[in-house]
Amino acid sequence: MVDCELLSKCGFFSKYQDSKQAACSGFIAMYCKGSKMDDCKRKAYRKENGVAPSDDMMPTGSMIAN
Ligand code: SF4
Repeated sequence: MVDCELLSKCGFFSKYQDSKQAACSGFIAMYCKGSKMDDCKRKAYRKENGVAPSDDMMPTGSMIAN
C-alpha cells in the first residue's frame, strides 16, 4: 500500500503522526497509509476549498478536541 500523496504536506499527519492517541494512530493507519485514503475528508476539503483544513480536522471530518 502506498502512502497518501499529500502525506508530506498534510498538517494533520505532521502534527499527529507521533501521537499516542489511539484515534490518531488508527486513522493514520487506515487513511494516510491505508485503503481509505481516497475517502479522506481532509483531502475532499482541500479539493473543494483550495486550501488545507485545520490541522485538527481528522480524516473523518471530525475535529480533535484538544
Ligand atoms: S489526513 Fe488525509 S490528506 Fe492527510 S495524509 Fe492522511 S489521508 Fe492524506
